[in-house]
Amino acid sequence: MDCPDCGHDRTSVVDTRTGEDGATVRRRRECQRCSFRFTTYERPEWETLQVKKRDGRIEPFDRGKLRAGVERAVEKRPVDAATVESLVEAVERELAGRGTRIVSSSLVGELASDRLRDLDSVAYIRFVSVYEAFSDPEEFLDELDRVLDDRFERSDGSDDPDATTDDDSPDGTHTDDADD
Ligand SMILES: [Zn+2]
Repeated sequence: MDCPDCGHDRTSVVDTRTGEDGATVRRRRECQRCSFRFTTYERPEWETLQVKKRDGRIEPFDRGKLRAGVERAVEKRPVDAATVESLVEAVERELAGRGTRIVSSSLVGELASDRLRDLDSVAYIRFVSVYEAFSDPEEFLDELDRVLDDRFERSDGSDDPDATTDDDSPDGTHTDDADD
């Protein structure tokens, strides 16, 4: 690589580092003539979106696999196939818009679970219990608590008739607060 400063064609690498994503190499170079220092980046040029898994393996993004995961989560829940398909499409669009050809599997899971959370809490919990691979049951329970809190908050102040299907009070009357 020619020196960007003086154009000399001999530079030496003074430092090499692998990027955080494991798919980029950053080299610090020094011109052998003028000692100008600069940085170059080396990364593979993927033709399609790649997913980096937890164990470090990289494989092409597979929308069928994502769809299957979402389908499993919404099984017997009031979420139809068209909704699942548009969720998968939305996730894929968002991944493509990231400006990188390599994304982490946890990002894929996160984007899908964010959307599932708005659709159906049961499906959401099922999905994250598989995808987030909670290392600790406490974490899972915390997440469950957060979802349940959200549901109470949502059904509290809202006039949305759909909210009553998840409501504990069948006649729609609320006591002021669950807290005594
Ligand atoms: Zn130079």
